[in-house]
Amino acid sequence: MDTAVEMDTAVFSRWIGEVVTAVHAGREWLTRLDTAIGDADHGANLDRGFEAVSRALADGPPGSPGALLGLVGSTLIRKVGGASGPLYGTAFREAGKVLGDAPEVSLADLAKALEAGLAGVQRLGAAVEGDKTMVDALAPAVRALARAVREGGGRPEALGAAASAARAGAEATIPMQARRGRASYLGPRSVGHEDPGAASTALILTALCAAAASPGGPAGDAGPEGTE
Ligand code: ADP
Ligand code: MG
Repeated sequence: MDTAVEMDTAVFSRWIGEVVTAVHAGREWLTRLDTAIGDADHGANLDRGFEAVSRALADGPPGSPGALLGLVGSTLIRKVGGASGPLYGTAFREAGKVLGDAPEVSLADLAKALEAGLAGVQRLGAAVEGDKTMVDALAPAVRALARAVREGGGRPEALGAAASAARAGAEATIPMQARRGRASYLGPRSVGHEDPGAASTALILTALCAAAASPGGPAGDAGPEGTE
């Protein structure tokens, strides 16, 4: 069963590359969401952050998935001014710590890493599900991935389930009233809009699904890195 198939640094590099592209392409959309219930900078914040990540990785990725996620996290903390910078930065750093310096990680390791990322976001931002934040997308995704791992699902299915859960979680923020972050200042007027951070979380997890499910991994791979 291919949950046992390991993911190497190339898979994680591909993930972050997909995020850079998706955030850039989604910049206007994320900003539009943040215009409705925030200060219209979420797209610009993340685009600036992931542009910096892209530059940091340009000289070649670090030697392990964990080190790569650590570098993504610290770059986001340094470069993103809004609330989302420290929150996403912490998520990536905590996830990276769980992966340590192993050159390859399993789907179960990744599930544990994302769980630690979520815990980091909640420790820092104190949001729970229902507060209309990125937690509303990340928490269901973490649960979906853990369930898929427990049930022995394959990597594409497991990551597909996580991405779908994140998107559904982001959509579920529409009727919520914000209780954390800038949108909470609007009180009942925050109802009726999708949370920008939940939307970007869904985008990041969709990118993970695309990167890790695409050819390039060892299974059925005709690519250059499929030697071991
Ligand atoms: P800012 O709100 O400082 O302008 P951004 O616009 O970049 O920062 O990010 C806003 C997003 O950050 C929100 O949509 C929400 O998902 C997330 N967010 C804000 N505060 C919190 C918090 N305490 N916990 C979790 N997520 C939060
Ligand atoms: Mg904002």
